[in-house]
Amino acid sequence: MLDLTIMEDLNKIKNELERTKIELKILYEVSNAMRTTLKLDEILYIILTGVTAHTGLGFNRALLFLVNEKEQLIEGKMGIGPENGEEANAAWTKIEEEKMDLEDLINAFKKSDSILESGFNRQIRSLKVSLLDKSDNPLSLAVLEGMPLHLTGAAIAKYQNSPVIKILGSQELLLIPLKAKDRVNGIIVADNFITNNPITKDDIRMLTMLANQAGLAIENSQLFELTVERAHSDYLTNLWNHGYFQVLLQAETEKSKITKNKLTLIMIDIDDFKIYNDTLGHQAGDKILKNLAGILRNQSRKMDLVCRYGGEEFTIILPHTDKKEAFLIAERIRNEVQRYPFLNEEVFPNKQLTVSLGIATFPEDGLAPSDLITTSDRSLYQAKKLGKNNTCCA
Ligand code: GH3
Ligand code: MG
Ligand code: MG
Repeated sequence: MLDLTIMEDLNKIKNELERTKIELKILYEVSNAMRTTLKLDEILYIILTGVTAHTGLGFNRALLFLVNEKEQLIEGKMGIGPENGEEANAAWTKIEEEKMDLEDLINAFKKSDSILESGFNRQIRSLKVSLLDKSDNPLSLAVLEGMPLHLTGAAIAKYQNSPVIKILGSQELLLIPLKAKDRVNGIIVADNFITNNPITKDDIRMLTMLANQAGLAIENSQLFELTVERAHSDYLTNLWNHGYFQVLLQAETEKSKITKNKLTLIMIDIDDFKIYNDTLGHQAGDKILKNLAGILRNQSRKMDLVCRYGGEEFTIILPHTDKKEAFLIAERIRNEVQRYPFLNEEVFPNKQLTVSLGIATFPEDGLAPSDLITTSDRSLYQAKKLGKNNTCCA
């Protein structure tokens, strides 16, 4: 009788040891993998792979949201997992047959972007919810309370109008906040919607441990990306600086060569800016430059790359854009600048601040970035010769 209880106890301890061993291995592998990169997308993928892989925590699906404090939003960043039972079988069988471990899965991601092309991931990426309305939104609740949230039947029904609950359609769900120091910077959401395996206390404990590491890794990566962005930005206007403009133009011309798409470069120069500076001083001039940068950014499209070329000269790289379309955009900018009430603009010769613009298009005006710069500069000179406040094409 005594022997039997001892045996049972021993078995229990053995199982617990076995589980702890697996848990340590997962945490070790995920944190090692996170150290190999500072790219945010790769970090997020590593985290979600750790949550879903069979050799990891083994959840069916996992999503990651980041907190955008500036806009008071929680934004979907990545969702991985099969969309239905068939897809789950196919994916899981492949992983089993090819004996893919965590490292293999992560390497597969680094080599190909197609992993993130699923409709599910796109749906998650388009999700944005307010940080503040925690009454009908479990994501905000988890962020504001900073505590894990384990939702089952009744609780899920309460949140049935929340977008994330609608998309997932799960019966049981786990939300774990990610923390960097004392701040919640994201949330992992996980469920087992295919296997319906219940979420255990051990699952919650493990995911919480993983989340603590993940929160720090995300913060490091965000700081790194911010530093890179700052190094490429112009201090006064916050546009891309001259050095980065050269990099961007080179990259965009290469892309256009491969895709055989048009690409247009617009060069912009303020008319008679010396007079403004000489009359009102350099600091007043700097305010104008800042103001103008804002107009250029507002008047261009999301895909356009607005840069400060130098002094009072700006460039805009317009991918997938032919000369005709670029001319319309340039004219829209010219008109908007002319219309905008800049401070003290009566000191300009014709009582208003205006710009001149020159346009060059790949491939007809040049194949190399330097050719496009020379040609757009020549067009700009032409616009000045025509009496300024003009747009000229090569
Ligand atoms: P144009 O119509 O021919 O372009 O005449 P312009 O006076 O604009 O051209 P010019 O090249 O003679 O002078 C450019 C002036 O731009 C010189 C300088 O006063 C001003 N400028 C250049 N960079 C800066 C800057 O960073 N800040 C300020 N405040 N002014 C600048
Ligand atoms: Mg100039
Ligand atoms: Mg000028």
